[in-house]
Amino acid sequence: MKLQNVRGTQDILPEDQKYWDFVFNVIDKSSEINGFEKINTPIIEYLDLFEKGTGENTEVVSKQMFEVSRFGNEKDDDKRIQILRPEITPGIVRSYINHNMQDWLKPIQLYSVGPCFRYEKPQAGRYRQFWQCDFESFGNEDPATDARMISMAWSLFKDLRIRNIELEINTIGCKKCRPQINDFLKSYFSKKKAILCKDCQARLATNPIRILDCKKVNCQKAAKGLPPFTKQVCDKCQDHFQQVIDYLKDAKVNFKVSNNLVRGLDYYTRTIFEISLKSDKNRQTTLLGGGRYDNLIETYGEKPTPAIGCALGIERVVSVLKKQKIKIDISEKTQVFVAQLGEEAKRKAMTILEILKTEGISARAALSKNTLKSQLKLANKLKSDYAIIIGQREILDGTVIIRSMKEGTQEVVEQETFVNKLQEKL
Ligand code: AMP
Repeated sequence: MKLQNVRGTQDILPEDQKYWDFVFNVIDKSSEINGFEKINTPIIEYLDLFEKGTGENTEVVSKQMFEVSRFGNEKDDDKRIQILRPEITPGIVRSYINHNMQDWLKPIQLYSVGPCFRYEKPQAGRYRQFWQCDFESFGNEDPATDARMISMAWSLFKDLRIRNIELEINTIGCKKCRPQINDFLKSYFSKKKAILCKDCQARLATNPIRILDCKKVNCQKAAKGLPPFTKQVCDKCQDHFQQVIDYLKDAKVNFKVSNNLVRGLDYYTRTIFEISLKSDKNRQTTLLGGGRYDNLIETYGEKPTPAIGCALGIERVVSVLKKQKIKIDISEKTQVFVAQLGEEAKRKAMTILEILKTEGISARAALSKNTLKSQLKLANKLKSDYAIIIGQREILDGTVIIRSMKEGTQEVVEQETFVNKLQEKL
């Protein structure tokens, strides 16, 4: 018998640990700054959690799950089918419900990092055991929450210094407008039925939106001429999406609206997004994917609760870090911390953050923190050289305050000149 690792799994050798540590480090820092708390849930869960949540007709659930059972002939004391989790979100949602997080102060922002399992045809970037980092935010329907989740994901890649990536966003509507979208897609794809794969022919009747996620060449060809289905979403969803777009523009996040973008899991509603390498034209190995899931908690019989999340694949990120020959420095420090007070200042802070990063200045902010004290405390903890402080008065005056964190001295400067001033100081 040849001694070998299981198909689709890999060993992470000592020489690669620095990449993994770097990614974990960036994730932990970004989570702290953005107010996400760590949660760990089991790798084994009951089957019905995913059948109900991820969707029993999704590829991930119907074809890719590993069942866990007791080895040998002895009976298992638990009759319910257990599986290895193919993704993290449903486990966190279960924990949210089991621990009555409905009663906690909202929004609740959680993140988790750990292995997931999918029965894939193993190839580069596609494994049977892979690690995901998962971010979830519960209790906020506001489009600003979508924009923050997306801009945090985008910033994560800037912090990782990964280049040549593309962020695509779209809206897939709510449960009220989904029937209209489905009718639209059915009418379009029924004319192309002959070239669709067997699975997509079945999807035409059950879940036509999923055809857009099929990676088969002919199905992608069939989808080429599809007019934007996004036009079918209701006015409320259109308006929600427009606001997400406006917030992202304010934050200077570089994104593209991809009208026919969809995601492979059933629970998504409204905003969805993906980050992939520009060279990955058919998004075969997306680096990060996410979206809103406003109906998922309700699906499990709980009070309706809006939510949004995203997941990043660690192996794929590590592989890009290596390919792009990115130098790893785990002890990297924050040069400038951007502190804000008030809603308008928060939006301005997002813009400032992007400007600083574009200028190659390592910058952080904690947009979920609302007091100056807590923000400056974090700036100290991150050993920032300077803090930029922006409040209501600075918004009105078109200025910002530059504070030296070492000396505690402050200077008011015009918003147009703050980058130059900082560059002189750093
Ligand atoms: P999903 O849960 O399908 O939205 O996937 C989220 C992220 O997990 C993807 O963008 C990938 O980076 C990663 N991922 C999903 N499946 C695999 C896999 N089989 N192997 C490696 N990474 C994966």
